[in-house]
Amino acid sequence: MTTTPVTHVATVPELRAQLSAPRGEGRRIAFVPTMGALHAGHAELMHRARAVADIVVVSCFVNPTQFGPTEDLSRYPRTPEHDAELVAAAGVDVLWRPDERDVYGDDDAGTRLLAGPLGDILEGASRPGHFDGVVAVVARLLGAVQPDVLVLGEKDFQQLAILRRLVADLLLPVEVVGVPTIREADGLARSSRNAYLSPEDRAAAVAIPRALAAARARAADGSRELPDVLAAARSQLAAQPRVEVDYLVAAHATSLAPVTRVDDATVLLVAARVGSTRLIDNARLLPGPDNADHLPEVPHD
Ligand code: AMP
Repeated sequence: MTTTPVTHVATVPELRAQLSAPRGEGRRIAFVPTMGALHAGHAELMHRARAVADIVVVSCFVNPTQFGPTEDLSRYPRTPEHDAELVAAAGVDVLWRPDERDVYGDDDAGTRLLAGPLGDILEGASRPGHFDGVVAVVARLLGAVQPDVLVLGEKDFQQLAILRRLVADLLLPVEVVGVPTIREADGLARSSRNAYLSPEDRAAAVAIPRALAAARARAADGSRELPDVLAAARSQLAAQPRVEVDYLVAAHATSLAPVTRVDDATVLLVAARVGSTRLIDNARLLPGPDNADHLPEVPHD
């Protein structure tokens, strides 16, 4: 396999200079925004980007506006050398590492965007303003890259739904591609925040994918009653006292509205604190060919 070197850029003019020739030649550009601390989940997004486009651009930017005042901005993991190696191995063309000024400019007087009602529920209820920060940064990154395709992970399911709305509502000419969650062998979703888990917390965290898998198994057995399906998930979570559930909600995949019965569009979303680390995960309750992910089987109760 031949790998062409990755071009590293920092400022928006540098980025644009790299992209103007391929864009002029009509080549398709895919964009994968990240906060760095890259892992196999991010690599999967890059592989998908590679498959659907001619040029792959990855950004690594720890976005301060999506962290609350008591959150982990300063201790968020930063692994720049490892990230450079991972993007090279994934066949990425351009790695963009802006600083805060490149993204937000020099002053605080600029345009503000709001995520809207989808940003107030679930993660947004626990992390006020989080999704306003997400739409603020992604709108600017999209303006800088002007990709044909935006590649995002289903791991952050609410974020994906909100960014689909951002693209639709602002009439942006970008196709949004969602990529199923990449997991560890025991089912835990890959996350940069897994690095915070102590060995005991890491062992307990497996209750989260087990809860999703147990709910899915109940649905696969034919149950469409939400209390029954949720009970299967709760019993897995209750088995691990270190796992403190914030929410466990069944919602419609597009509107994120709560549902009362399971159908093809139902997604189960969970957030839990394990030690000092907040983890999120989700799964379709009736996975189909277009939305399969790779939750491991768990034994029935
Ligand atoms: P992050 O830098 O972790 O905030 O995420 C950057 C992108 O990677 C987002 O679109 C995430 O949804 C996606 N992502 C993070 N973890 C995973 C995973 N385990 N599997 C697939 N995509 C992921």
